[in-house]
Amino acid sequence: MKKIEHIGIAVSDIEQANSNYAELFNSTPYKEEEVASENVRTSFFMMGDSKIELLQATSEDSAIAKYIQKRGEGIHHIAYAVDNIIAERERLINAGFQAIGDIKNGADNKLVCFFHPKSANGVLVELCQERG
Ligand code: ZN
Repeated sequence: MKKIEHIGIAVSDIEQANSNYAELFNSTPYKEEEVASENVRTSFFMMGDSKIELLQATSEDSAIAKYIQKRGEGIHHIAYAVDNIIAERERLINAGFQAIGDIKNGADNKLVCFFHPKSANGVLVELCQERG
């Protein structure tokens, strides 16, 4: 893994969170995107070499909706950039990490996959690779 690509934060109201984080960072999101496959609305702020992703559920059965119901708003996942998502996913599965679902198209022009928080001391892990 190369670096922290972004940190994902679950929010209940992305309009409110956008203006709150715009204030915090004194900048504006460089991208806002709805990801239909995940039932989320996202926005991204640059933070040096990495990013902050805000995620709001667009449906009740979205993972973000369930997360907020259980734990409230907060850090939802940490995403790590990889060069070869297929190889890295295989490596982790072989090492005993528990994958959640398959590799899929994520926000911000990325291929993404996830590993269960149980596998990483309580933090949901996202791998992401730039889509070519
Ligand atoms: Zn993410």
